[in-house]
Amino acid sequence: MLNRSPPDRQHAAAEGIVLPHLGQRAMVTGGAGFLGSHLCERLLAAGMEVLCVDNYFTGTRRNIDHLLDHRCFELLRHDVTIPLSVEVDQIYNLACPASPIHYQRDPVQTTKTSVIGAINMLDLANRLKVPVLQTSTSEIYGDALVHPQAETYWGNVNPVGPRSCYDEGKRCAETLFFDYRRQHDLAIKVARIFNTYGPRVHPADGRVVSNVIVQALCNRDITIHGDGSQTRSFCYVDDTIDALFRLMGTADEVTGPFNIGNPHELSIHELASLIVELVGSRSRIVHLPLPQDDPRQRKPDISSAKEHLGWEPRTGLREGLLRTIAYFEDLLGQPSIRDMVAA
Ligand code: NAD
Ligand code: UDP
Repeated sequence: MLNRSPPDRQHAAAEGIVLPHLGQRAMVTGGAGFLGSHLCERLLAAGMEVLCVDNYFTGTRRNIDHLLDHRCFELLRHDVTIPLSVEVDQIYNLACPASPIHYQRDPVQTTKTSVIGAINMLDLANRLKVPVLQTSTSEIYGDALVHPQAETYWGNVNPVGPRSCYDEGKRCAETLFFDYRRQHDLAIKVARIFNTYGPRVHPADGRVVSNVIVQALCNRDITIHGDGSQTRSFCYVDDTIDALFRLMGTADEVTGPFNIGNPHELSIHELASLIVELVGSRSRIVHLPLPQDDPRQRKPDISSAKEHLGWEPRTGLREGLLRTIAYFEDLLGQPSIRDMVAA
């Protein structure tokens, strides 16, 4: 269901954001994934046509089932590591697994998706002379030594560890985006997204919010890696999508990179305790070994996004978690999903 009100053109113009013309066509790679499916909805609500491109590596038809009958929505099963020839007015490049257990399952493919996928999308954008937006990540800062992280920080990334396929793949993609800008004067936009959560994260995705909510709802042990003192800053999906939409509407010279995240930082232990309280769960917390290269501290400095996009997150953590818990409650009511999660 499309549940967002149409954007207010006057308000957007006052903030320097240009809304797309009705009927313009956007391509969303990774459109059947968590963020991609929300972005497709948002673009349709803005009156755009949407071409959703996905190979279903982590995405699922379930995320976009409700859009299939929309007359402005088109779905293409395709792997972004293979060049693609279509005609569109904007490209949002989201294709890439984002959860550590998924991007580490086939690390070579993860690097190919990030790097070759970026080249294919940049070549297409360059041929069509249309803007292209890259969903980069806070992971490009690695195990940050500077706190909070501003875009000026170059990061602390292990180039040969188990997270490197994702971190370095995304770093190389950023390099490619800025080289296409310098070499071809292409309109590029780079968003460094920090941990985002909300409805439609896959229940077996492995990221902390979905893991803990599913465990709490099933009254199973809550798995905290290490002592739980490592921190993250969690942004609700609607806020992240709003930032991507605004970024695409900026003038060509506005490239970013922009940190997109919620600066409300908390420890993983605090997060787990809050979820247990909100669910009213009987789960107990157990500790597992901390994965290698797991970043210790993460919090975005979003001054640049505030200034250039007129954006900051609006959804508080409790409110966002309650909405996400309601989604998983509903999902776990379906026997096939419950069996999959129990397996
Ligand atoms: P997700 O795993 O739910 O979605 C990724 C989508 O990309 C899936 O639908 C998957 O099937 C598709 N995909 C993967 N490889 C592909 C390929 N080679 N060709 C075509 N499709 C492919 O993850 P998400 O959380 O929605 O993340 C979307 C994007 O945002 C990713 O690029 C991710 O790196 C970035 N990001 C997300 C977060 C977050 O917290 N969710 C944080 C930082 C960055
Ligand atoms: N984490 C955890 N239990 C889980 C899943 C993750 O304690 O069941 C930890 C993980 O080790 C990391 C933090 O939670 O310290 C965030 O993990 P996630 O995979 O969600 O995101 P990322 O590490 O990519 O920021």
